Amino acid sequence: MTTLETYPTMEDAARAMGADATFLGGGTVVMRAVNEGVATPRLIRVTDPGLAQISTVGEILRLGASVTMADVLAHRDLAFLHPVARQIGGPQVRNMATVAGNLFAEHPYGDFATALLALGAHVTMTGQGGPRAIDDVLRDRNRAGLVSAVEIPRPRDVRSFGFRKVSRVKPKGVSVLCIAAYLPRESGRIRGARVAFGAMGPTPLRSSGVERALEGQMLDTATAEGAAAAATEGLSPATDQIATEWYRREVAGVHLKRLLTEMERG
Ligand SMILES: Cc1cc2nc3c(=O)[nH]c(=O)nc-3n(C[C@H](O)[C@H](O)[C@H](O)COP(=O)(O)OP(=O)(O)OC[C@H]3O[C@@H](n4cnc5c(N)ncnc54)[C@H](O)[C@@H]3O)c2cc1C
Repeated sequence: MTTLETYPTMEDAARAMGADATFLGGGTVVMRAVNEGVATPRLIRVTDPGLAQISTVGEILRLGASVTMADVLAHRDLAFLHPVARQIGGPQVRNMATVAGNLFAEHPYGDFATALLALGAHVTMTGQGGPRAIDDVLRDRNRAGLVSAVEIPRPRDVRSFGFRKVSRVKPKGVSVLCIAAYLPRESGRIRGARVAFGAMGPTPLRSSGVERALEGQMLDTATAEGAAAAATEGLSPATDQIATEWYRREVAGVHLKRLLTEMERG
């Protein structure tokens, strides 16, 4: 039997959590598991409407944990993230799927988290002081705690952000892999490259080899080829029903090069 507990705030929910409890966001993953009979003694949810808010503080875009993919798509300031949110499930999933839930959804999910990783987002964990770098939260996500918000530094130039998702079923298949790249430029040269891959490891991962190949370079064909050659450095793709590890490794560089070429053309 599963019981559902409802709390007014994230702090109350955090106090109520325990080894037998699962936090319920939009429920697209959790409720499917419950319906399939996965033992979940306690489900915990929060009704605080503040968690569904999107706000801007200076150059920081703040998304509450319960903001859905549909909310992202309806917000003009988040237009650079629309190509990401639009490719997550179908309309019903997007109406329920939350930003925080995407950080914890297991392989091959996590397309939005991959974009947030490339953008250098910070994550506010309930009761843990200031925001933490998303890299740290993803690395240790089984012990992370409850997320109350995600903060995204607004890209200086929205054309410096690109996203590409590869799936077998269009338009709403899950990822064979996805790639998010944030490539800010100074005097035409890439400074502070962040490139993340989804479905190429247990969580979204940055590719240090690609970032090294891009840093300080002009974004042109030679640079894209150099980055593609380093595409899988540091990644650990799995074999599953969607693709083999071999296939994922084979195509990662090809799709990275295509993404970089699209970004070069603007
Ligand atoms: C048909 C279908 C298609 C899908 N397609 C895609 C896709 O294309 N791309 C993709 O990335 N995902 C996809 N998903 C997975 C899922 O819908 C998304 O990843 C979604 O963002 C998960 O959010 P949720 O709020 O529904 O999470 P839930 O199901 O509520 O929770 C998922 C996990 O996150 C944890 N969690 C939720 N909120 C918090 C919080 N505030 N703090 C801490 N932990 C939390 C839960 O405890 C649970 O472990 C799909 C799912 C389905 C059913």
